[in-house]
Amino acid sequence: MKIDILTLFPEMFSAMNESILGRAQKSGKIQINIVNIRDYTEDKHLKCDDYPFGGGAGMVMMPQPIGSAIEAVDPEHKARRIYMSPKGQTLKQQKVFELIEYEHIVLLCGHYEGVDQRVIDLFIDEEISIGDYVLTGGELPAMVLADCVSRYVDGVISTSSLVDESFSENLLEYPQYTRPQEYKGLCVPEVLRSGDHKKVDEWRRAEAIKITQKNRPDLLKR
Ligand code: SAH
Repeated sequence: MKIDILTLFPEMFSAMNESILGRAQKSGKIQINIVNIRDYTEDKHLKCDDYPFGGGAGMVMMPQPIGSAIEAVDPEHKARRIYMSPKGQTLKQQKVFELIEYEHIVLLCGHYEGVDQRVIDLFIDEEISIGDYVLTGGELPAMVLADCVSRYVDGVISTSSLVDESFSENLLEYPQYTRPQEYKGLCVPEVLRSGDHKKVDEWRRAEAIKITQKNRPDLLKR
């Protein structure tokens, strides 16, 4: 899976070189390519944003540098091209399962007041939001999406980690415990140390239903 991320702030993405995503890149399971939109501007002062037509606060990212960057990374429009945007559909696990079917994904990060609408009309397949709040830029949302998609690429994490997690079967995950058996007076539930796998499974399922009922009753209704 190849993910191109188009941004005016490439240095923000160093976080993706750590831990599981860092290893997945080194081993070639995923290829994350950070593209500086400014490298594609034809403006002699390297300008990439300008005042909005019609007035209003803030700056808008100009279409030319973004259009040229997209055409450079995906000249035949074979990739799924996504604009990270609070106006998009909210990211859900189901969407992630759809996206892992693509070999190549292009993520466009807006900044300031966003991008010129013609970029969306001409180049973008869909807009995705990571939640009902507004951030300063699309960089964190792009990292959220790329991280989530990467987890499901073969070999990035063990497949056994992917079953039973939160949102599978519309349930949140059961509580997890590790050593020590007792911490500040709180003990690990007896059943988890019983070695009885059937009982463990039953307990985990009951706990998953309990936490979902408490925190996300909307999931159970689906
Ligand atoms: N003026 C815009 C918000 C611009 S925020 C509006 O009211 O809709 C600047 C950039 O941050 C956006 O272009 C987008 O790329 C990104 N962004 C902000 N919030 C986001 C969210 N919830 N999900 C995805 N991207 C977001």
